[in-house]
Amino acid sequence: MTHSRILLSPPHMSGREQHYIQEAFETNWIAPLGPNVDAFEREVADYVGTRGAAALSSGTAAIHVALQLLGVGSGDVVFCSSMTFIASANPIVYQGAAPVFIDSEPESWNMSPAALERAFAEAKAEQRLPKAVIVVNLYGQSAKMNELTEICGRYGVPVVEDAAESLGTTYEGRPSGTFGRFGIFSFNGNKIITTSGGGMLVSDDPEALNRARFLATQARDAAPHYQHSVIGHNYRMSNLLAGVGRAQLEVLDSRVDARRAVFGRYQEALGREEGLRFMPELAGTRSNRWLTTLTFQGEGAAAKVHGVLNRLAEENIEARPLWKPLHLQPVFAGVKFYPHSDGVCVSEELFESGLCLPSGSSMSQSEQERVIEVVRRTLNESAGSLPSLRSV
Ligand SMILES: *Cc1c(COP(=O)(O)O)cnc(C)c1O
Repeated sequence: MTHSRILLSPPHMSGREQHYIQEAFETNWIAPLGPNVDAFEREVADYVGTRGAAALSSGTAAIHVALQLLGVGSGDVVFCSSMTFIASANPIVYQGAAPVFIDSEPESWNMSPAALERAFAEAKAEQRLPKAVIVVNLYGQSAKMNELTEICGRYGVPVVEDAAESLGTTYEGRPSGTFGRFGIFSFNGNKIITTSGGGMLVSDDPEALNRARFLATQARDAAPHYQHSVIGHNYRMSNLLAGVGRAQLEVLDSRVDARRAVFGRYQEALGREEGLRFMPELAGTRSNRWLTTLTFQGEGAAAKVHGVLNRLAEENIEARPLWKPLHLQPVFAGVKFYPHSDGVCVSEELFESGLCLPSGSSMSQSEQERVIEVVRRTLNESAGSLPSLRSV
């Protein structure tokens, strides 16, 4: 029997995207930049409540420019969450700086304030404070921003909030992405809203954002000829894609509601399965529940992850393990890492015992029932003894 494929997090268009694209075609404002870019920047800034925003070609580009604005360069150190997509940390290396990875804590799965505190104490003793700290909000869940920004503030080190996965989330009522000196969002195809590819840098510092736009357009000095005094990038968003983004932003709140409803149905159907726990929601926050994620508890957890992922794949359903922590990535072998506490490495435990279920906002109830049925059936079989993901 062939079922149609269920994807992890496919794009979900509103229908209004064509309107903005049409407008761009009619005015021949295909490039460069243009009114959709200006409007999209203003609309995102208004939505999250920052003084401004700069539309860029990707979330990765936004992190890269943020680090450049903070003066991160060769020989510098940057602290970064370990449990994340590699795009969070790659720009550290682009700038010739050295990453140091910080573990997660169990309540949010995000950066552990205790581990960060130890990393700072050691860095201070070695007189090698980081130039910046990149705090990631996983799967729509805000990190413990009060604790983390307090620690960073005490050491005078700026925060870049990687909110690529948490647009639409709030922490104590305040929009995710607005807690650091800079925040970044991604509009990659799998995110909660998409421009097919794109990103946004947000900040309360309009001058820094102007500098970001300058750096993102090849750092052209104000001269009639082409003159350059620093090295820049080709990182701006196109006017067509910004049009897609404007239409997507109009439906962001309903996309958050839809993803939360997907989570709610999974929890309702599977929440009583023994040894299965959904990602908690940090007190005082409202997650966009970008992806529904869960962990298995106890002995056979890794085998259960494998069993469920294999069975879902057989049924033409896309699911994934949780992010493999960056301190375990071959490319970052030997990089310094601070665990949550002595002998407790939360990110490794999560990686070995957890997975992401299909969570698209356009997912139908019957599609979701198919996923639930496969998970339930697999759990009720003996999962067998499969190798853990770490050895892969
Ligand atoms: C998607 C993502 C990024 C990168 O965004 P792109 O737009 O794909 O470059 C960065 N960090 C996290 C946590 C992400 O999930």
